[in-house]
Amino acid sequence: MEEKRMKIFKFFAAVAAAFVFVSCDRKIPPQFYESLGTVCFINLYDDGKESVYGEIESCLAKIDSKFNVNNEDSEISLVNKNASKSPVRISDNFAFVLKTSLETAELTDGDFNPALGNLIKLWGINTDHARVPSESEIEEARKHCGWRKIAFDKTDQTVFLRDDKISLDFGAIAKGFAADEIALICERNNVRRAVIDLGGNVLVLGEKKDRSQWKIGIKNPENPAGEPCAVLNFPAISENGKTCSVVTSGVYERFFIQDGKRYHHILSGETGFPAESGLKSITVVCRKSIAADALSTAFFVAGKERALELKNKAENLFGEKISLVFIENDGKISSSLSDSEISLDFINQM
Ligand code: ADP
Ligand code: MG
Repeated sequence: MEEKRMKIFKFFAAVAAAFVFVSCDRKIPPQFYESLGTVCFINLYDDGKESVYGEIESCLAKIDSKFNVNNEDSEISLVNKNASKSPVRISDNFAFVLKTSLETAELTDGDFNPALGNLIKLWGINTDHARVPSESEIEEARKHCGWRKIAFDKTDQTVFLRDDKISLDFGAIAKGFAADEIALICERNNVRRAVIDLGGNVLVLGEKKDRSQWKIGIKNPENPAGEPCAVLNFPAISENGKTCSVVTSGVYERFFIQDGKRYHHILSGETGFPAESGLKSITVVCRKSIAADALSTAFFVAGKERALELKNKAENLFGEKISLVFIENDGKISSSLSDSEISLDFINQM
């Protein structure tokens, strides 16, 4: 009798446990998170379990705690505080983002510069104290933006800033890194298709249910909230693998206007001013989001001609095909598509 009661008890306990498990892992709709200084939208479609969204949310929080320069306790702030004092041991993620940043800086001869922290703070673009700094302030900040003074010891996994006023900023690469990390979480959890949109840094994973092509619009710089001016079409499953990322850097994303002139957030370490390279935006398509993010900023500063010259080298560096779409100051849209499976539709030539 006792044994029978025990069996019944075990049966109900198992049912209850299964119920708790299922209800903790129920399917939920696409989620929005505020992280990495932007709004992040994640859609896991049919595989959108609460547990996977939870893992993604923690991943975003972890990455934010490493790369947020406005957080005193972040890993990047710790490195910056130790400038010219002592080498800092860094996490694997930090080391990877730093390594990729330095490689991109080398590739583009400093057009991509992870040591622009001083200049970025001085301009304060996207803060409530954005302003055009004086010439002497810009000169002073420029003196402390030398990315070659970042000493990265790969063996010890430490970084030492050889200038007491230099400061790192990963604003141009952290979202791309985060998108790749989220894609890995999706793959580990057998998510069949997903859209990961970290404030316009978009990564799609897998294949659409009806097997039709993914379509990603490129914003019209003159009217970013309106209809896109072009649309990229691509199957996510290509010979390259399972993901595809589309990242745009442009003058319309973050900026302020003073005396009728627009000052945007992508700076040239060379001039100390917002980069003027003849582009309103550049869109980079690449399987790896970290590459697309770093290169979109780098090639925006470099301009169309140099970007096209550097494209092959960038493909070798990242081991991926890279496609580019340019929107020039006069509104002309042009592209260099490396993957025959990608096509571009013009909706509204400006
Ligand atoms: P967004 O972050 O708006 O998507 P980007 O990826 O182009 O746009 O990154 C711009 C951010 O990167 C700036 O807000 C700043 O933090 C940083 N940054 C600005 N200019 C450069 C540069 N030349 N090289 C590296 N980082 C930069
Ligand atoms: Mg970028």
